[in-house]
Amino acid sequence: MYTLGIDIGSTSSKAVILEDGNRIVARSLYALGAGTSGAARVIDDLFEKANLSWGDIAYCIATGYGRQRFEQANEEISELSCHALGMSHLLPGIRTIIDIGGQDVKVLSLNDQGMLENFVMNEKCAAGTGRFLDVMAGVLETTTDELGNLDAQATDPVKISSTCTVFAESEVISHLAEGNKIPDIVAGIHNSCAQRTAGLARRLGIHKPVGMSGGVAQNAGVVRALERELGASISVPENCQFAGAIGAALKAYKKCKSVSYTHLTLP
Ligand code: ADP
Repeated sequence: MYTLGIDIGSTSSKAVILEDGNRIVARSLYALGAGTSGAARVIDDLFEKANLSWGDIAYCIATGYGRQRFEQANEEISELSCHALGMSHLLPGIRTIIDIGGQDVKVLSLNDQGMLENFVMNEKCAAGTGRFLDVMAGVLETTTDELGNLDAQATDPVKISSTCTVFAESEVISHLAEGNKIPDIVAGIHNSCAQRTAGLARRLGIHKPVGMSGGVAQNAGVVRALERELGASISVPENCQFAGAIGAALKAYKKCKSVSYTHLTLP
């Protein structure tokens, strides 16, 4: 049985097809999010990779910021529960999930059964989000996926004191003008991002083990800075950016299983 999960985020669209709720048949990501052609593009790419079509899909669940506009889904579910389920599947036993996407930072607390217990979210401000890092990478004339490598070369990280993206950008420009090395500026940016996120996480309480999802989890510099701030090691699963889509496909599978079970037991 094939189920499809699609996570239409603020910045990118991600989709996966699962076979029998455990094997990823195909996955696709396009760096365009809610309200764009991103969702249609990932679906086309996904079906091409999997050599499948809508007729093969038993159930589809959409999640993420743009989920309500995806008409092909059988159901739409909030990204919090999809992320919790996806991460529990990728990192069994996980108790705290830090998700940094393009536009928001979320910290989720799970109980020892893997059920979502509590969460905190920073959604009204770009500081510390993927967007913040994308803007900073642009100012430093590099790309977001290079930030982790640059951070590893830092010897004397600068201090970024502004929490506002616009002011932090001016600070970065001042550091550049003063001749500070790019790796040291990058490490300073990551430290400021980690301080904000750790402040949010502490409001919830840190239960170990801790895992990280979302696109920013691929930035090893942010992960290291957060580990230092929290005093806890952080696991990052291979499919960290797909956690929500995987959770949605798993929920779709669970839905089909319970439906077929009901059918079997009815007289
Ligand atoms: P959303 O679901 O809100 O669209 P994502 O979880 O897809 O967000 O994360 C998008 C963010 O991830 C981007 O803004 C970017 O900063 C970051 N990102 C994406 N790919 C990478 C990468 N290879 N290395 C570091 N950061 C990345």
